[in-house]
Amino acid sequence: MLPFVWSDDCLRHEPEAEVWIGVRTPATEVPARALAIREALLVAGAQEVAATKHHDAALLRVHDPALVGFLRTAWENWSAAKLPSDRVVPYVFARSELTSGRAPAAPAAVWARPGLFAYDTMTLIGPGTWEAARAAVDVALTAVDLVTDGERLAYACCRPPGHHVTRSLYGGSCYLNDAAVAASELLNRVGGPVAVIDIDAHHGNGTQEIFFGRSDVLTASVHVDPGAGWFPHFLGFAAESDAANLNVPLAPGTGDEGWLSAVRDAATFAAPARALVVALGVDAAAEDPESPLEVSAAGYREAGRILGELGLPTVVVQEGGYDLATVGPLVVETLTGLAR
Ligand SMILES: [Zn+2]
Repeated sequence: MLPFVWSDDCLRHEPEAEVWIGVRTPATEVPARALAIREALLVAGAQEVAATKHHDAALLRVHDPALVGFLRTAWENWSAAKLPSDRVVPYVFARSELTSGRAPAAPAAVWARPGLFAYDTMTLIGPGTWEAARAAVDVALTAVDLVTDGERLAYACCRPPGHHVTRSLYGGSCYLNDAAVAASELLNRVGGPVAVIDIDAHHGNGTQEIFFGRSDVLTASVHVDPGAGWFPHFLGFAAESDAANLNVPLAPGTGDEGWLSAVRDAATFAAPARALVVALGVDAAAEDPESPLEVSAAGYREAGRILGELGLPTVVVQEGGYDLATVGPLVVETLTGLAR
């Protein structure tokens, strides 16, 4: 029976909105996503395992302590300042070119601080955001525990997602990079190389950058071409590929055939690994409102089968997937393929 790790605290993050091109639009990364996945897993007979608390050590191997410190207190400080916005949102960004590469000053104004750590305006922080993001790290690390204790496959129902977070910057509706933390912890416990295969519809830019230039963590991402106008826009191109990083950008409208071919390439790339993290976004599905890829449920099952054929100890970490009617069934399809 497939174990899946769950924490009620992952429901505490209520972004309410995203600020996109200056407009406040309703959030799509909502708690109902996780509840829909949990329900589908229980119906499918998966075994719920409660997340256990883990020390910050693995988290701090992956993230700058300054980012973690900011996120931990961001809401508390913002709400104490009695600002007109009910969510933490940046308005000015500390780009390194602004200070000719020198470290920027720590700003005195609470409303300027998010600009040290955020790279977009879409990723709002409210009451419960830190608790949910930190719980998602515990969910991922509990799944690592299961796998290093002998399970071949464990699923981490992480929310909010994490793959867009770099070592010191948050964005893309993500706050802490759960897949990167899981990979780092697996590396510590089973030795390298370990692999992260990201099949979310969007490039796993945070994970790529956290491990960029390292040979002990192989990163592969299959995603809609940022050159066609999709987030994260500035990276995720094939030319960033090297011996330890593979990007397979796909044209909008790509369906099962092209997507699965890219998943096969990612699996081949990851074959030397001793353990695998799958950053599972199901937003490449045809029904999903957040991407133009057209993958079917059968495609997700086949992707799971391809990745399962690697025969590696595998932790699956939840990333995107925003269609509430299909997000749960698509996760079940993928895990069913992986478990065969
Ligand atoms: Zn995505």
